Amino acid sequence: MPDASADASAAMVNAGFSLPVQGAVLRGTVQVPAGKTTLTQLLPIIQEIENVIVGTVSNQAKSVGREVSCRAGCGACCRQMVPLNVFEAEALTQWLQSLPAERQAELAERFHRALCALRDAGMIDKLVREDWVPEEETGTQLAVDYFHARVPCPFLENERCSIHPIRPLACREYLVTSPPELCQDPSVNDVCGVALPVKLSRALHHFGQTVTQDPRGWIPLVFLMAWAKGNAKPGDHVTGTGEELLQRFLNQAAELAKDMES
Ligand code: SF4
Repeated sequence: MPDASADASAAMVNAGFSLPVQGAVLRGTVQVPAGKTTLTQLLPIIQEIENVIVGTVSNQAKSVGREVSCRAGCGACCRQMVPLNVFEAEALTQWLQSLPAERQAELAERFHRALCALRDAGMIDKLVREDWVPEEETGTQLAVDYFHARVPCPFLENERCSIHPIRPLACREYLVTSPPELCQDPSVNDVCGVALPVKLSRALHHFGQTVTQDPRGWIPLVFLMAWAKGNAKPGDHVTGTGEELLQRFLNQAAELAKDMES
């Protein structure tokens, strides 16, 4: 048995996984920490699996003439309110802290400018109120208002994502097949996308809700710098060996996917 108290940076082991994806079962093997790890530390592996799901589903869509039109250099959707899970917020905070001071200051300025633009558009008060619910009318309206404020994500540089390899799951799951110009305003244009049969972001939100006791389990990405000041470590509350934790996470994802089907 691996020592559960060992540091997560110690030995890695292979862990097989399987996940139902559109009538088939997606199987693979990933490397996970053998010892105790947190859900935040497991994020790179979850992102790896998400990439496989997105790749599989995109290829299936392409084979029936529905190619994903999202390309580097098109940042139209990067003016939406991005749900950043608290575990993702923790990982991005650690990444930000590892950057050279000048880059940190540059990004801090970008976040500040985004918050000022949202304040000027009257959005901050709406965002911090707790009476809006994602996927209900209150949340949908807030998302539309946010998009109409036209505030770019602070990580968007020259219409490209500057954190592409570590971007949030929500960004990976946004797969548009309609012409990119329609994304200029999804609230009035008929933007079509590929529906993912399983969304790992939902499983992550589930754990986020449990840890934070917040019905969302995520924050708007634009609040990342403010959130980081609280020094929260949500990952410390969801731990296990790499294998155990991955299995628990994928079981949750499969459970939520079943709910989506029914
Ligand atoms: S994190 Fe990257 S992909 Fe996501 S909204 Fe920001 S710039 Fe766009």
